Amino acid sequence: MLTSYPVACPHESCGWTGSLVPSSLQGGARAVIASRQRAWFQCPQCQKDWEVRITNDKVSILPAVENERLNDQAKGRWQDEGGQG
Ligand SMILES: [Zn+2]
Repeated sequence: MLTSYPVACPHESCGWTGSLVPSSLQGGARAVIASRQRAWFQCPQCQKDWEVRITNDKVSILPAVENERLNDQAKGRWQDEGGQG
């Protein structure tokens, strides 16, 4: 039995809300997602997908910005070490 979750599309100028069944892979087949596992939803209105984490039957959107920020921190560290020599 596949479980659907009440979600709202995070993409700008869409704002679709409703219940969707998550996929285990981006663009993959609908699947049962275990708790604390990442999953993907695809919006039926704008056809874009987004990544979420499902914890205790609650859906939280994973911010795509987070990875970029980590990369910036890594770059800053490299520059600091280079400046010492
Ligand atoms: Zn949408």
